[in-house]
Amino acid sequence: MDYNATTPTRHEARVVAERVLRDCYGNPSSVHFAGRQAKKVLDESREKLAAALGARASEIVFTGGGTESDNTAIKGVASRHGRGHIVTSVIEHPAVLETCRSLETEGFDVTYVTVDTAGRIDPEEVRDAIRSDTILISIMWANNETGVVQPVAAIGEIARERGVVFFSDAVQAFARLPVDVREARVDMLSISGHKLYAPKGIGALYVRKGVELVPLAHGGGHERGRRSGTENVAGIAALGEAARLACEEREPESERLRVLRDRLEDGVLKAVPGTSVNGAGTGRISNTANIRFEAADGEAIVYGLDEQRIAVSSASACAASHTEPSYVLTAMGLSRREAEDSVRFSLGRYSDATDVERCLEVLPAVVDRVRSLDRAAG
Ligand code: PLP
Repeated sequence: MDYNATTPTRHEARVVAERVLRDCYGNPSSVHFAGRQAKKVLDESREKLAAALGARASEIVFTGGGTESDNTAIKGVASRHGRGHIVTSVIEHPAVLETCRSLETEGFDVTYVTVDTAGRIDPEEVRDAIRSDTILISIMWANNETGVVQPVAAIGEIARERGVVFFSDAVQAFARLPVDVREARVDMLSISGHKLYAPKGIGALYVRKGVELVPLAHGGGHERGRRSGTENVAGIAALGEAARLACEEREPESERLRVLRDRLEDGVLKAVPGTSVNGAGTGRISNTANIRFEAADGEAIVYGLDEQRIAVSSASACAASHTEPSYVLTAMGLSRREAEDSVRFSLGRYSDATDVERCLEVLPAVVDRVRSLDRAAG
């Protein structure tokens, strides 16, 4: 129940990756037969991703994952301007937040818009934050901790009106929601393979035709000069196939997960007193339940469930080594203690009703034990 942290590589993605590793060893930049064979794999995968996003193949840049895509987009625009102002939000993933903080040390100005108690950004706040020197708006599509979906289309409209480049981190949204770059009017958008049943260390960045980026790394000018380095052909093949299948299966799978997630939330709220759902008041991706257990430390619940071989998370996994409570939840108005008492359950392809029922069976005793230990500790 920790699919927002990562997903297992699906069978079909593994099969295409294995085939490429076995049969397709050429360098896609080589002109000979082996190179052309590898290049064909890249072209096919690029087409699949473009189709999944409503983009053109030439607008897809393969990267080493979500973090690299986020950095490429934000630093790429920033470097081109040299200075200026960026609008982002307080609930972005560290791949965006830390990139913006790093740019602040280089002299860029950044406005971090806040969220309401449901975890949602107000597009009007984004509009108000835009200045004459604003070079970029970076707002995530769906939050990794709460699953709350942000009003990207409305923000895209504002960005277009004001002539500001709009980037969205769609790492958690892609494959779970319809993501169409033209409809949402985004100029750049990031995705990550390991959140959609492809391997880790592969991702993509959509860059609308006409948006100019300075690349992070210089080299052989691969990916139309936007990301140098010999491509991860097997990973790219797996990503393309996983993205194609994710889109094909998205609607029924989202609905299936919604039913399971709602059963989990209802079951927890009924079986465990003093519980509430963070971000319940607004649209969320259908697989995520972020639940607060009053007076029960979330991390202790994670360990209690781990003893039962149930994997959940108490803050975003990428920030799991930090001892600070979730900045996403405190931004929604939760106190430090309330944020610490929260646990994220996230379901996926291999989750079923048996998993949810087993979790509901063991959870009340786990929470009781954590609460009595917390009471004993004062
Ligand atoms: N953005 C969001 C919203 C994420 O949830 C994650 C991963 O947790 C990332 C970016 C980073 O992606 P990657 O792990 O592929 O670097």
